[in-house]
Amino acid sequence: LTAPALEAPQHADIAALLPHPTAASDKYRRGVIGVVAGSERYPGAAVLAVAGALRGGAGAVRYVGPAARAVVARWPEALVHAGPPAKAGRVQAWVVGPGLGDGPEARQAVEEVLASDVPVLVDADGLRFVHPDGLERRTAPTLLTPHAGEAAALLAVPRPEVEARSLQHARELTARYGCTVLLKGSTTLVADGDAPVRVNPTGSPWLATAGTGDILSGLTGSLLAAGLTTRDAATAGAYLHGLAAREAARGAPIGAHDLADALPTVWRDVT
Ligand code: AMP
Ligand code: MG
Repeated sequence: LTAPALEAPQHADIAALLPHPTAASDKYRRGVIGVVAGSERYPGAAVLAVAGALRGGAGAVRYVGPAARAVVARWPEALVHAGPPAKAGRVQAWVVGPGLGDGPEARQAVEEVLASDVPVLVDADGLRFVHPDGLERRTAPTLLTPHAGEAAALLAVPRPEVEARSLQHARELTARYGCTVLLKGSTTLVADGDAPVRVNPTGSPWLATAGTGDILSGLTGSLLAAGLTTRDAATAGAYLHGLAAREAARGAPIGAHDLADALPTVWRDVT
């Protein structure tokens, strides 16, 4: 018997994955997520990634980067650090990339985070600095979260090819980079080695608006910090993100920040 090639989770599958605090919980045991995001040019990406992280179940969110002022103005519970990630203190998982830009500081930040011994989610600009050889040296799991354009760059193929055959390209990405891949699009896929590819059944075309990917990376990273595997964090993150879009939009346009406000409602609905 061969394993099925595709799986689609439902509420009960996701509920079984999500973390729940107990009497023994404290903020450190719930997981600290480090978010390396934003730049002078894109401070909002940092605010959105932190928003997703705060609503994702970690006990604390540590923001590292140049947008600390904007982050704290919106999310006073965030811990902020202006120096390099390696000096920011202990975290249980890192998210790196949203709005980071393409300069030398961005490259340095990605390399530092990838040199850590905790799970790392790389998204957006962070994906510019990812190479299979570098990931092979890691001792903890890695999750890449490209959209079709970023996936095309990672595989050096034209974007329309990724869009036309996303399943094949998700499999190619996980094989070539040796890590878990969440390939975003109108259908979002989670590929992890030879395991069955998971197809996200939630979502909404209203997600096609700036900043929604930044919310997803923070949310998914938070689930990593809470102890989910890269495959399960990607699965649950995409699922909740898609439900949040439906809940927030209900047939009308939304901004990415609306997803953060809808997340507690959908989390309650699922569990
Ligand atoms: P990003 O491109 O990084 O901002 O991420 C965009 C987010 O919106 C991802 O979660 C995509 O899966 C989602 N998305 C974009 N376009 C669509 C669409 N037409 N239908 C459903 N989801 C979409
Ligand atoms: Mg993006």
